[in-house]
Amino acid sequence: MSSHHQIPSYLTPHETGPWSVYLEQIDRVTPYLGHLSRWVETLKRPKRILIVDVPIERDDGSISHFEGYRVQHNTSRGPGKGGVRFHQDVTLSEVMALSAWMTIKNSAVNVPYGGAKGGVRVDPKTLSRGELMRMTRRYTSEIGIIIGPDKDIPAPDVNTNEQTMAWMMDTYSMNEGRTATGVVTGKPISLGGSLGRREATGRGVFVVGCEAAAKRGLNIAGSKVAVQGFGNVGGIAARLFSDAGAKIVAVQDHGGTIFHSNGLDAHKLLEHVEINGSVAGFAGAEAVIPSEEFWSVDCDILIPAALEQQITEKNAHKIRAKIILEGANGPTTPEADDILSDKGVLVVPDVIANAGGVTVSYFEWVQDFSSYFWSEDEINQRLTRIMKEAFNSVWHVTEDKKVSLRTAAFIIGCSRVLQAREVRGLYP
Ligand code: NAD
Repeated sequence: MSSHHQIPSYLTPHETGPWSVYLEQIDRVTPYLGHLSRWVETLKRPKRILIVDVPIERDDGSISHFEGYRVQHNTSRGPGKGGVRFHQDVTLSEVMALSAWMTIKNSAVNVPYGGAKGGVRVDPKTLSRGELMRMTRRYTSEIGIIIGPDKDIPAPDVNTNEQTMAWMMDTYSMNEGRTATGVVTGKPISLGGSLGRREATGRGVFVVGCEAAAKRGLNIAGSKVAVQGFGNVGGIAARLFSDAGAKIVAVQDHGGTIFHSNGLDAHKLLEHVEINGSVAGFAGAEAVIPSEEFWSVDCDILIPAALEQQITEKNAHKIRAKIILEGANGPTTPEADDILSDKGVLVVPDVIANAGGVTVSYFEWVQDFSSYFWSEDEINQRLTRIMKEAFNSVWHVTEDKKVSLRTAAFIIGCSRVLQAREVRGLYP
């Protein structure tokens, strides 16, 4: 990765984390931004970063402190919006990059939000349910000074779910002295959550996957699919591809990598993960394979749906898939993008491929504001329409400008943000 980027003083000077990946992506799109490139620096600096100490009393009476973040990358087009991640490897660079990708994504699919993201550096598996609840509540209270239904709206991400959102919504509401359902999305249905939200990201991955497959003349029925990460995004995407007749030949998660040449039973695997927390030990696998072999598995479609910087210059040349659908945010480094492009692999970038989640989050927020709830059919139809339109607009730019889908999505996403910036003008 080029090291000429100006790294802010609050990151290490030799930053090579996700924020550097994002800056490189911005450099690649800048030549296509025309007169708006005058404003591009605004995308290279998060608007606001809040770092909080999150102390909790453990069940044994001891005290633990965790590091929490909320980054609002950009709010030119609307309030901040983006998930909250609980993971032992969360860093400021990661949360900054994730918040920036939210800005680009929300703009690329044209939902009226800026970009934000949050995280706590903790392995939630090491906490009891009570400890997890106290940690979530304290974190919410600490970031409560900058979030709100019309300021910044968190949602689930890695290791957070509907229960996390319910605790966040309750904590914010208690502090405000009123029930504020619209402060988070991805809530349980009983608290103003939306039908279809839990499946939305995986469903969006599937919808754009079908569009991409059609462009490449690939039939989903009978195709071979490999998935990294079998959580909310990867698990649902795998199920939908399998229901459409694809074979899920390999799945990798934090616990191991399993393989079946004739396809794993996605429904049974979901049940197994629900009970055991990982794909490890699944009886329906033909083989357990070493984690590095996952990348060279014979497949047509590869879906990274776990963490950032998984597809790098070290493994990109091994990949045999024709199409990569980025369920995860930032799974592919710029160097790997170049290798894949030379090999003719079609990479559908995160900012389009996984935008189904924030799209239905937007529907949830709208439903909360109007206190009028839509049917699941209506939600899925609207989601499918928006995802197809977004994919096809990006495809059009790709053909027109002879650029990758990622650069095309960034051209659309960055242009809308910078147009808003320009017309608003600088304050004061
Ligand atoms: P999740 O917590 O439900 O699942 C995460 C999965 O990744 C698990 O299967 C876990 O075992 C696996 N994993 C973790 N570390 C791993 C490792 N080192 N190697 C292999 N697998 C590993 O999280 P999720 O919500 O499915 O999020 C997955 C990705 O999708 C993230 O990049 C997230 O930012 C992105 N995303 C999520 C949403 C959403 O609505 N939840 C929306 C857009 C993008």
